[in-house]
Amino acid sequence: MSFSQYHVQKPFLELIVKTSTDLPEDVEQALQDALARADQDSPEAEALETMLANVALARSKRLPLCQDTGMLLFDITSPPEIPRTELQAAAEAAVAEATELGVLRQNCVNSLTGKNTGNNLGYGCPIFHWQEGEPGVIQAALMLKGGGSENVCTQYSLPDSSLNAGRDLDGVRACVLDAIWRAQGRGCAPGILGVAIGGDRATGYEESKRQLFRRIGQRSPHPELAQLEERLVAEANQLGIGPMGFGGKTTVLDILIGWRCRLPASYFVSISYMCWCCRRQTMTIPLQ
Ligand code: SF4
Repeated sequence: MSFSQYHVQKPFLELIVKTSTDLPEDVEQALQDALARADQDSPEAEALETMLANVALARSKRLPLCQDTGMLLFDITSPPEIPRTELQAAAEAAVAEATELGVLRQNCVNSLTGKNTGNNLGYGCPIFHWQEGEPGVIQAALMLKGGGSENVCTQYSLPDSSLNAGRDLDGVRACVLDAIWRAQGRGCAPGILGVAIGGDRATGYEESKRQLFRRIGQRSPHPELAQLEERLVAEANQLGIGPMGFGGKTTVLDILIGWRCRLPASYFVSISYMCWCCRRQTMTIPLQ
């Protein structure tokens, strides 16, 4: 097996371009389905038509789907022989190149100075998650998550008497519906919710974000969670909030629930809200 930073920089750049400009087909199909359900000439239909026109334009012109580049999250599975520092350097070089090309807007701000770093790189940006995989191949996934949707992510600690939510799936259901109601279309609805039951505060959010890599309609392998996902999608779409909060039949495109073990003293429900512009793609990079 041979490896060079250059060998993977180009595929990383392709992954970034695809993620930034090409909405995954399952998300686009979910928007089409929402449009088919919407009342003709309603604000909901108009909003969905605008989103779908934007999707087609971005794809054909290879332009960013949204002006908000979002936080870049790489999830990389690589063989143990490949040094992660070199892989990270290749991915970061690709991010800088994509910024130079205008595929990513300059969107990374130094939190102490308030200055834009100019190339989407800086301490903590992008985010990298690593897994060890089989020899001979690198699997890379990328998500771009916008600030508007990140701002309406939330976390609950159960029990919560204000929601009448105990430490069970009924309590989880109450949290999810509360989060959607509070968002009220902010975060560029219709959204996709990644939910994590358990973990600690940090890993709960991490797990909830990981769920957003699942395809729309891919149900949990746990029957009780799959049932809850379907029930919550139906209930959320009866709230009438609709795309961008304009009212309508589709407030969420899907709800994806995962879990982690927890401490006896804690029961967190962490909710990551993803906007309709759900930019995530994966790529396999073979190593010759
Ligand atoms: S929330 Fe999503 S669609 Fe809205 S501005 Fe941010 S990235 Fe764009």
